[in-house]
Amino acid sequence: MANKRSLILGCSGQDGALLSLSLLKQNYDVIGTSRKLKTNKLQKITNHSILGIDKDIRLVNCDITNSDEISNLIEKYKPNEIYNLAAQSSVGKSYEYPQETIKSIVDVTINLLEVCREINYNGNLFFAGSSEVFGNTKRKANINKKQRPVSPYGIAKQTSFNLVKLYRNLHNLKCVTGVLFNHESPLRSEKFVTQKIITEALLCRKNKSHKLRIGNINIARDWGWAEEFVEGFQVMNRTKNLKDQIICTGKSTKLKTFIKIVFKKLNLNWRNHIFVDSEFFRKDEIKQSYGDPKQMKNDLDWKAKVELETIIERLIEFKLNSQK
Ligand code: NDP
Repeated sequence: MANKRSLILGCSGQDGALLSLSLLKQNYDVIGTSRKLKTNKLQKITNHSILGIDKDIRLVNCDITNSDEISNLIEKYKPNEIYNLAAQSSVGKSYEYPQETIKSIVDVTINLLEVCREINYNGNLFFAGSSEVFGNTKRKANINKKQRPVSPYGIAKQTSFNLVKLYRNLHNLKCVTGVLFNHESPLRSEKFVTQKIITEALLCRKNKSHKLRIGNINIARDWGWAEEFVEGFQVMNRTKNLKDQIICTGKSTKLKTFIKIVFKKLNLNWRNHIFVDSEFFRKDEIKQSYGDPKQMKNDLDWKAKVELETIIERLIEFKLNSQK
């Protein structure tokens, strides 16, 4: 019997690479899109090389903001399931590049949904949503919490969420959104604060006068382990009773605590190395964001297991090994 086939839009990023690895382990045939192919002569994606799977997946060049190209891709490969992970994924950058952010999220979502409606696509579609749709969460956010996004990125993810819901209800497409809270791995790009903290803390260990310049350390987030989150994407996408779900750990941790743990693990006193810089403060910054994992556990028996201390240990270890 032929292998099942998955198509991943935005497969070069952290989640795309980890999802590719997970699917390959289950013997899936993996097709992935990346804009990088246009410029990369070797046709190699760094995250896939790190995971040792660059030769095992089929990378295709596709402008996913163009519906004809998406249509051709689906008609050609006939995937059993599709994961749309593509996005300009930095909240900070979405203030600088709002048009690119909206295009990369909203245009791709509507194109994919419309193409699937037109061709009567019968497979399953997973869309990567974001906790940023909620804005501040005083209590754990569940899927019904009122959405109050405060960034162009959050607004784009809210529109994508609403479109997916509409196409599921109106056109019976088998599509769902996973509303994702922060999740980390060594593949997370350096533009994100967690990677910056670890890189800078290692510099502080080498140079005792080095300082980590950072913005508001009193914000709190819900940080999970990306490798297990991509398992959650698949569980959501393959269930019969399709529902939007929150994927999170349910724990709220201040950035200050994250920093303390990193420095402690490196035998450093964080207070000696921190410079809180108002330049990095963001107007409308979300003070606290954490989710309610209950529905995902009750409906699909999926739960995040890796604790933040372990996540931090793994991130430090990877960085130390890559510096050897
Ligand atoms: P990454 O930034 O690591 O990867 C994003 C992917 O999107 C890349 O493969 C990139 O592909 C593609 N992409 C980037 N910019 C554009 C653009 N302008 N147009 C089209 N494609 C683009 O993100 P993650 O893997 O961390 O996240 C996956 C998804 O989950 C994203 O949608 C993100 O918004 C969402 N999410 C992630 C969270 C996290 O903590 N990681 C939290 C909440 C939501 P290429 O450049 O190769 O074309």
